[in-house]
Amino acid sequence: MAEMLRPLVAYTRGAGIDCRWLVIAGSPDFFTITKRLHHALHGSGGDGGPLASAERAVYEEVLAGNLVELEAVVRAGDVVILHDPQTAGLAPGLARLGARVVWRCHIGSETAGARTDAGWAFLERYVTAAELTIFTLREFVPPGCTGRPHRIIRPSIDPPAPKNQELAGGAVRAILVRAGIVEGPPGPAAATYRRSDGSPGRVDRAADIVRLGRAPAMEAPMVLQVSRWDPLKDHAGVMAAFARLPGDTLGNAHLVLAGPSVTSVDDDPEAPEVIAEVLRRWRQLPHDQRRRLQLVQLPMRDVDENGAMVNALQRHATIVVQKSIEEGFGLTAAEAMWKARPVVASPVGGLREQIVDGESGILLSGPRDESGLADALERLLNAPQERRRIGAVAHERVAREFLSARHLLDYAALLRDLASELPGPAARRVRAAEL
Ligand code: UDP
Repeated sequence: MAEMLRPLVAYTRGAGIDCRWLVIAGSPDFFTITKRLHHALHGSGGDGGPLASAERAVYEEVLAGNLVELEAVVRAGDVVILHDPQTAGLAPGLARLGARVVWRCHIGSETAGARTDAGWAFLERYVTAAELTIFTLREFVPPGCTGRPHRIIRPSIDPPAPKNQELAGGAVRAILVRAGIVEGPPGPAAATYRRSDGSPGRVDRAADIVRLGRAPAMEAPMVLQVSRWDPLKDHAGVMAAFARLPGDTLGNAHLVLAGPSVTSVDDDPEAPEVIAEVLRRWRQLPHDQRRRLQLVQLPMRDVDENGAMVNALQRHATIVVQKSIEEGFGLTAAEAMWKARPVVASPVGGLREQIVDGESGILLSGPRDESGLADALERLLNAPQERRRIGAVAHERVAREFLSARHLLDYAALLRDLASELPGPAARRVRAAEL
């Protein structure tokens, strides 16, 4: 979500709308509860803890504190777009201030069950205070929102961002060598890219990497999954599938599981546990498999530099995997497809929307389909032409459907529709705030 708001806020301001992005503050308890909600909306068990009155009290208290801050900047008639469960509880208070409140949910599950019901039961009283809700897929709209105004807006990636921009010849190698992910020398090119503000940037930091021995050579095929350290990203499943590949297929191929440095994402309290579990599994692998797998934590101190590293990884990867158990959209797929990589993904959430199986990528038969992943990897590692064909179709699909220009137009239509319901002078004063 942060990934998309950065460019969209900038473009919106560039279009003459006074749009601001505000970020709420929360306590560790609050983020434990919101992560529980995140799991619940995905239909997953999460930490197994309750979503009852004690949790509601913590959730509401933290958001009440944030609302006090917002009262200073939000005026009646402002459009406020709240994102995800963390901010939903602000909707009633903002509506009382006279704001036009929209709640946008970036996650969801295609199948309802006791867990999703529990998550929506917690959120419903807040979400229904918004005058409009937005979901990524029609299947994600919960029963409480189907009869109320809602729309579907699909996410996007931003082509000039450090994460998606073309990298000058040799920069991919230089960045990966600098980060320590492939073996040097860095070659004649510099590890440079263009920052979000247009100024020149250079990758200086090294990644925090667990592997056996030396880094793989630049020439060695790389299978890559980039994702947060979240159990729903099924790192263990990717490792298990890769371990099934026969040695003669593998040659010198290697697997990179990359994610943000583990202490960097405040609202992701599970990350240390997940990476500890991934490490434990890595240690249990036979030596020959362990040496083919690197666990990479990318530094997050400079988000542009982090984006450039993700960019270099995705451009270098022979195959990109996204083996999520559940997925809201799966930006990592769009990012890799934009770079004309063949993506192998679970058939869940937005991954199914992005990938037309066999054309713009490969979809597994289910989110637990490890043997299907192993088969797809084996086939694609040996089929450079098929990789190129899929990559080319994937790039075209993202260019047509999933870039920020389309997303901006969706927001423009939303603001126009909201403004058209206001009296004339107020319509001209529509300001948008993103939270
Ligand atoms: N990402 C990143 N640095 C990392 C790992 C992930 O910038 O070290 C980005 C990734 O490139 C993508 C986003 O985080 O843009 C993850 O979005 P996605 O929709 O794939 O999954 P989510 O994290 O929202 O569940």
